[in-house]
Amino acid sequence: MRKIDMDNLNYCIAQDAGELDHIPERAFIYHIVKQYFSKVPEIKSRKDPKIMVNYTREEIIKIVLEFYRDLDQGMYEQAKRILTGQSEIPIIIYDKDKAKNMRDELETYPRDPKIRWEQKSILVSDKHLTRHHLVQHGSAKIFVPRNGDISDAYYLAHEISHTFDRSLDGVFKANPLLLEITPDCIENIMDYYLQRKGIITRNAVLQRRIEKAKGIRGDYLGTLARIELATLQRDEGNLDEELINEYLETVGYKLSDKDLQWAYRRIMTDRRQIGYNTRYIVADLITSPYFQRLYEQDPKKAVQRLKAFHTNMKEGTPEESLESLGITLDMKTIDRLLDSKAGYVLGLESQSNKDQKSDDWLR
Ligand SMILES: [Zn+2]
Repeated sequence: MRKIDMDNLNYCIAQDAGELDHIPERAFIYHIVKQYFSKVPEIKSRKDPKIMVNYTREEIIKIVLEFYRDLDQGMYEQAKRILTGQSEIPIIIYDKDKAKNMRDELETYPRDPKIRWEQKSILVSDKHLTRHHLVQHGSAKIFVPRNGDISDAYYLAHEISHTFDRSLDGVFKANPLLLEITPDCIENIMDYYLQRKGIITRNAVLQRRIEKAKGIRGDYLGTLARIELATLQRDEGNLDEELINEYLETVGYKLSDKDLQWAYRRIMTDRRQIGYNTRYIVADLITSPYFQRLYEQDPKKAVQRLKAFHTNMKEGTPEESLESLGITLDMKTIDRLLDSKAGYVLGLESQSNKDQKSDDWLR
């Protein structure tokens, strides 16, 4: 087993503890991540080799516009305004290999470390940038990375959809924990759309969902470890391996050595805030498979619910927002969502074993 830099780990955990004090939903988040490891199995399927088709920037923009036109008039008009430069929000699509230039450019936007993260407006692409960049209210911009394949359509649709559920001119009201729900719903709807249009195959959707389920497990694991260790450090003082191992005997869920090593590394290298990771956890909990099933049963109704969610994110309470998606914010609902996630993950695994190599990734 690799030696862990315990001084550094203790330092990072102490910082996490400070942040956790400011998250009112701490107990709720802890319940979610803890229950996840009691209920949801780990996906073992390996990644299929992808056959990638190249798409130009113009082709991706066209796909995204057609996707939104098919989805909803209001969302289409907003997407069109942004993509044709007629919106107050500029959009910058940058090539991934030029990401360093983008980081330099982002550094020039005003940032004030004293402002708490809830009060900031984030329209920065949350993927592919190594640091958490916050663009202050009023100077929001959308940055979207370009890989040159169909994943660009997802990134672009994702970032644009961040503008649907927040007022850009008023006070930032929405609960930050709910901020990734809209983009995640949009990405999931896009799976069905691209498949229906023959742009990607069923197997591509399956592979995407498997990769996503694996990625989100990392977010759950990192968050669980940070909350547990912050609590342990507060109660017992400086952490060492023996103390952590003793504690893990008592928790009621099982983490492998591999998980634990991974979690330590993540805690020390990925210093993004806990609240930031939690947004993806909350979104994934709701979309996969709850919102997917809603959409499969009745696409029109699912989109109506999503639009009601947008309105409530701007004007209502977090409870009202979630209610418009049909979700009550309580522990019982969380447990039910996690139970169906367990079934969903098992389903992905068995489908992947069945379908392996039966289908090209992309047409
Ligand atoms: Zn996002």
